[in-house]
Amino acid sequence: MPERPEHDDVLTFLEEDVDSVTASVPHKPDPWRVLSVDDDEDVHLTTQLALDRVEILGKPVELLKAYSAKEALEVLAAEKGIAVVLLDVVMEDDHAGLDIVDRIRNELGLVDLRIVLRTGQPGYAPELEAIRDYDINDYRNKSELTHTKLYTTLTSVIRSYSQIRALEASRKGLELITQSSGELINSKGFDEFSFGIIKQLSELLGLSDDGIVCTRGVNESEAGAYYTVVAASGRYQLTVNKQLNELEDPSVKSALEQCIKEKHNLLLDNATVLYFSGRSGCDLIAFLDQTRKLDDTEKRLLDVFCSNISVCLNNVLMLSKLHHYAYFDSLLNIPNRLAFVNRVDEYKSKPKTASVVLVDVDQFSVINDTIGISNGDFLLGAVAQRVSDVLSDSFIARISGDVFGLVGARKAITPEKVREIFYTPFDIAGQEQLISVTLGLYDLDDKEESGQEALKKANIALKKAKESLRGSHCYFTREMEQETETRFRLLHNLRKAFDSNRLFMMYQPQVSVADGRPVGVEALLRWRTEEGEMVPPDRFIPLAESSGLIIHLGEWVMRTAMLQLKRLQAKTSFNLRMGINVSMAQFRHPDFLDVLDKAISDISVDPRNIELEVTESVAMLDRIAVSKTLSSIAKRGIKIAIDDFGTGFSSLSYLERLEVHRLKIDKSFVDKLQGESADPRLSEMIVNLAKDLDLEVIAEGVETEEQVEWLKKINCDEAQGYLYARPLEETWLIEWLGEQERRLM
Ligand code: C2E
Ligand code: CA
Ligand code: CA
Repeated sequence: MPERPEHDDVLTFLEEDVDSVTASVPHKPDPWRVLSVDDDEDVHLTTQLALDRVEILGKPVELLKAYSAKEALEVLAAEKGIAVVLLDVVMEDDHAGLDIVDRIRNELGLVDLRIVLRTGQPGYAPELEAIRDYDINDYRNKSELTHTKLYTTLTSVIRSYSQIRALEASRKGLELITQSSGELINSKGFDEFSFGIIKQLSELLGLSDDGIVCTRGVNESEAGAYYTVVAASGRYQLTVNKQLNELEDPSVKSALEQCIKEKHNLLLDNATVLYFSGRSGCDLIAFLDQTRKLDDTEKRLLDVFCSNISVCLNNVLMLSKLHHYAYFDSLLNIPNRLAFVNRVDEYKSKPKTASVVLVDVDQFSVINDTIGISNGDFLLGAVAQRVSDVLSDSFIARISGDVFGLVGARKAITPEKVREIFYTPFDIAGQEQLISVTLGLYDLDDKEESGQEALKKANIALKKAKESLRGSHCYFTREMEQETETRFRLLHNLRKAFDSNRLFMMYQPQVSVADGRPVGVEALLRWRTEEGEMVPPDRFIPLAESSGLIIHLGEWVMRTAMLQLKRLQAKTSFNLRMGINVSMAQFRHPDFLDVLDKAISDISVDPRNIELEVTESVAMLDRIAVSKTLSSIAKRGIKIAIDDFGTGFSSLSYLERLEVHRLKIDKSFVDKLQGESADPRLSEMIVNLAKDLDLEVIAEGVETEEQVEWLKKINCDEAQGYLYARPLEETWLIEWLGEQERRLM
């Protein structure tokens, strides 16, 4: 009969109601497996009873039995995870017990397994040598197999078993961690690194390799940016590049969100979610399906892995970020300007004739407005792709927005060869998009020159080509460089002039053709340099436009002209309108309407007396956006005149739908209303068109009475030009208006 437990309190009994226990503890811990080896069934029974419902170090005990040494070896070979063998030393013969110890350790290689020898005779002990050699962990007399004794013995050997296992696992784990961080750190980039995490984790912990890694990405570390899946494997493969909120599986999504929020590892029932903190908020989350429960050692290992990987992450981030930022264009994923400059440097050291070509997509901003930004990006990508496909021996990079750089053998990248690439249209969202390019070329020859210098020169050539004709090309020359320097100086001086109020306005009257009655004035900007020289607006306005200065300058013009109008209204009885020139850059600026509104309300001028002059090219920008802006302007009562009409390429049917009020016949047509070969046809056509569309019309640049006669004949109602008045400063303008008043009274 088994003995009653001597000290019940030493023993931890499981709850009587096993079912209710299982119900409340979803994961019943794996039991410790103990193999009892004895040819005496009584011994097994006693052991069984002693261990029944006992818990050691928080886990129950499962007893396996063997009745002979042979059977014991078979069980040990077949069963996994046996922690302890309770071994009868004397079975078949005196040495059978010790023989199997030898075979357990040396043949089966079970070194973790703890061995407790049980002897039949009191006082019998195996030789010390055997104890040491075979790593025998305890020996007990069978009569000592009381409940408590067995429990204490088992507890102590199981504790050492689990420590050995933990040590072993940690050692292996740490080895793996070192190895895996080593592999990860060698990843070629962020993507490979991320994918590596899933792979390494599944190997390290024997977890599933169905997983996801997501991050805010190298390029967007702003708070609140969306997390994107950067690597995925197994059943999650299709989630790559999806944003977190696009993931279909709600449990995956919420687990990831929780981890992002709590910033630490989550060991859930169905998943392991790991948090890797990276610098500047660029953290990384790994999600793996849970295939088995991790034990404490593994959990600790996981923590070590995570902090280790976080260090790697920062390194990889830093390296790939540096590399990527420094040399790659993130939109098109091709080399950038810096990479280009480096490559040109390399070319210069080679003794072959090479050229640098800059390729500018013509009217890209207009195309972008028409097809939309994302299609525009796509188009740029398609251009880059085609160029690198066709000119595969040359190096291509994105220099800026819609400008690509090529460096390669001179004869491979001639203007003809480059332009030919664009003869076939691109397929953009099912639509054919034909584009043309303007080229700036520079032949590399001077070996002393840097890549940066070479790029600058090609750029000067490009600018020149763009100024002369779209779709053309230009080779760099010395003179161009000088001109560029002059322009640069001019811009510098213009800024200074603006800041020190050396810009001022003049106003040119506009009159009724019938009787010369003033109907309005046009505000024209003037610049007098410190030396007293007048710089014509045709020269500095384009400069202000290309440098962005026009935005501030234009606002100043607008307000100055409005203030002038108020003053004029107080001094004359004519109901005048004020014509204000607005350039394309101003009109396209998102704040344009706000700036306009603010000026009108600050100055409290009647918007019905304001007329904005825009050129045809402005009207031909993105049609939807333009017609929206124009009708917003019209709603305010402000009028719109189309300047230099006839020189652009307005489609008439389109013009009909725009809310404009006046056409200004360009001076070049008015010039033809003169002399023996006078040709009024174009002017007349414009007047008729205006009447058809119910628009008003004014002729500009009228210099002679003869022109006025023609204007009367073709029914053009208004005119502006030197014949009536030159652009005038305020005092002269007021005087001129006074004269007209006296004349017409
Ligand atoms: P625009 O808007 O076509 O202005 C008319 C130009 O023709 C003015 O030249 C004016 O002085 C000139 N003009 C007027 N009547 C005659 C004439 O009978 N004969 C001749 N030969 N010329 C005449 P300006 O002032 O040199 O302006 C040139 C261009 O500069 C303007 O052309 C306009 O496009 C631009 N501009 C001038 N002021 C501004 C401004 O404040 N803002 C913007 N965005 N552009 C401006
Ligand atoms: Ca004008
Ligand atoms: Ca004009």
